[in-house]
Amino acid sequence: KLTSREFHPSSTVIDVDGIKIGDGHFVTMAGPCSVESREQIIETAKIAKAGGAQFLRGGAFKPRTSPYAFQGLEEEGLKYMREAADLTGLKVITEVMDIENLPLVAKYADMLQIGARNMQNFQLLRAVGKTGMPIALKRGISGTIDEWIHAAEYIANEGNFNILFVERGIRSYETYTRNTFDLSAVPAIKKLSHFPIMVDPSHGTGRWEMIESMSLAGIAAGADALIVEIHPDPANALSDGPQSLTPENYEKMMKKVTKLTAFM
Ligand code: PEP
Ligand code: MN
Repeated sequence: KLTSREFHPSSTVIDVDGIKIGDGHFVTMAGPCSVESREQIIETAKIAKAGGAQFLRGGAFKPRTSPYAFQGLEEEGLKYMREAADLTGLKVITEVMDIENLPLVAKYADMLQIGARNMQNFQLLRAVGKTGMPIALKRGISGTIDEWIHAAEYIANEGNFNILFVERGIRSYETYTRNTFDLSAVPAIKKLSHFPIMVDPSHGTGRWEMIESMSLAGIAAGADALIVEIHPDPANALSDGPQSLTPENYEKMMKKVTKLTAFM
């Protein structure tokens, strides 16, 4: 397989317009779950940048459980996010939910996110593969390591070797946390594939108070990147407030992340 270590023994480094990820190049991505307004995303981008992140995350097309929940600002959100990222010198990572909106999302993003719910949307995987753009491939809600790697294979099979695996927790019997954050996926992917892996403790746990410890644990486990949800006012966030860090807690965590990544 194109994704396997046997095929490509050395670790692949992804280059996102000058920002390298993998094989010792560590990056942090931070931002709100959803882009909510121009002011909100600009304010959050400044916080993300000041803490040391290289990427601004944020959803403009949101895969919500309920059709009555906030669905995202769509193109308006993409525009605000691009503006906020350019203003602060960050790269944009955002989710593309379907082939229909791929050209639109690709126009504004530096890296495309395939959400957990779309890990096995094989037509979408082929389509993002064809763009040649950097792809963050989230693990499916109940995705096995083998299914996840085969999903990446669909992207690689289109000639796209800019793949970043994202561990974001899997469904288990446990309900205390939103998902069961599977840190063992980090060494598993490292062994099986040459592509880098990012940890997402925000969706992995669903609890803001666990983000710092699980981020540090993810880095200790060998993750090449970290993605976290942050919000200027988590209590009033339109999505995922309970797992979003306040600016103060993000800053506090990033001091430790910076120290630990220097040590790794
Ligand atoms: C997100 O990143 O906000 C998101 C919806 O993630 P996931 O697909 O992992 O649930
Ligand atoms: Mn979210």
